[in-house]
Amino acid sequence: MSEKTIFKRIIDQEIPADVVYEDDQCLAFKDIAPKAPVHVLIIPKKEIATVDDLADEDAALIGHLWIVIRNLARELGLEEGYRVIVNCKEGGGQEVPHLHYHLLGGRKMTWPPG
Ligand code: 5GP
Repeated sequence: MSEKTIFKRIIDQEIPADVVYEDDQCLAFKDIAPKAPVHVLIIPKKEIATVDDLADEDAALIGHLWIVIRNLARELGLEEGYRVIVNCKEGGGQEVPHLHYHLLGGRKMTWPPG
């Protein structure tokens, strides 16, 4: 069996995280190396490595994640705006092979990202 990812270990409470939201489908916690005043990672509890690995039947789960992101942005005071990023695979800058959304806010974002 392949080794657990760091995010799976957070889901399984083997390592600590600063959790801001949890339900039966997903977990949201603060990024350990924040790139903005607010930097939260939203992850499905289901082990999906990348966007490329999504199955058609994951559509409802992905919709749910977006509603959680919207709610978190409100709760975290990001009414001025925010950015949501998903890196896909090495070429897309993904380091942890467990699907995750970066919710970034609390500062003015610039474009294009690096
Ligand atoms: P990626 O580059 O895969 O899109 O983003 C992975 C993110 O996970 C990075 O922003 C990194 O700082 C964060 N990260 C990596 N390891 C840990 C950890 O153990 N705990 C938390 N809270 N964040 C982590």
